[in-house]
Amino acid sequence: MKNRLFLLLLVLLLLFSGCAPKQPERHTKQLFAMDTVMELSVYGDASALEEAAALIRSCEASLSATDSSSELYRLNMAGSMELSDETAALLRTCLALREQTAGAFRPDLYRLTKLWGFTTGEYRVPVQEEIDSVLAALAGDTVRLEGNTAVLTGAELDFGAIAKGYVSQQVAQLWRSKGISGILSLGGNVQTVGSKPDGSPWKVGIRSPFDDSSTLGTLTLGETAAVTSGGYQRYFEKDGVRYSHIMDASTGYPAKSGLASVTVLCESGTLADAYSTALYVMGVERAVSFWRETAGFEMILVTDDGNVYATEGLKDCFSCNSFEVISR
Ligand code: AMP
Ligand code: MG
Repeated sequence: MKNRLFLLLLVLLLLFSGCAPKQPERHTKQLFAMDTVMELSVYGDASALEEAAALIRSCEASLSATDSSSELYRLNMAGSMELSDETAALLRTCLALREQTAGAFRPDLYRLTKLWGFTTGEYRVPVQEEIDSVLAALAGDTVRLEGNTAVLTGAELDFGAIAKGYVSQQVAQLWRSKGISGILSLGGNVQTVGSKPDGSPWKVGIRSPFDDSSTLGTLTLGETAAVTSGGYQRYFEKDGVRYSHIMDASTGYPAKSGLASVTVLCESGTLADAYSTALYVMGVERAVSFWRETAGFEMILVTDDGNVYATEGLKDCFSCNSFEVISR
């Protein structure tokens, strides 16, 4: 009798486990690239992680400003160079964004970033003459791009504010073309691809700019890029003043716009990354005007004094203790 009962249970168990739809397994990979820790996750085919890692490495190899074999490094050294189609296209996008953001985003501020020590970690507050001399060089027509030939005058390029978003967009395209869903987190750059196998939305935490270990709020998302820029991500302090890695080309100093962090949500990772940096430089008022006149993105602004603003498209997917909604 006991044996029969056991057999019956076994049969039922086998039957039910056979019937239950099998969810694709989640696979995760961590890597260090583009000066940050990256975490990639996919559902199903784990080989998509290795392909993504190879793509990230190959983008890094052409776009890094510090790697002496990269295209960008060689252009900065030579002052003039024929670029690959891909790098020329990205530079063209950067120049258009510089125009669109009235110089809040600029790809040609590498000399300024170097002057303040952000490229080496040997931080310093430069004397005003040094800043003025770099600003004078940056005032002119610093970058020309004819066909694929780039010519620099008085400036060097740095794609640090756009490269991770650009790369996450490339990976998203690759995964999408193979029908793979997953999520990438490249430092402050998150990109979701497709939807989760169980149909539940992606949940992305926004880090508090005031405390490493806590989150400010959570976003419930479909497929999108969500990119955060903040002074807290890299900075140094001297004589009680905090200097962050995002430069304001109108002063030659690290931006001090009253914002502690900016998160941008946009279909394009490239734009999300460039906009988040630009809006951080702009400050609340200019950022809100920019959002009102630019379609295609949503944003969360956190001010130095802890106020949180989110644009109306996020009001149902952002959860946070308290925030003010910005309308069109
Ligand atoms: P992100 O973390 O995307 O906001 O980018 C910040 C990085 O972009 C800095 O570490 C610099 O390498 C570079 N950068 C700094 N200021 C600017 C700026 N105003 N426009 C474009 N790139 C910048
Ligand atoms: Mg950026």
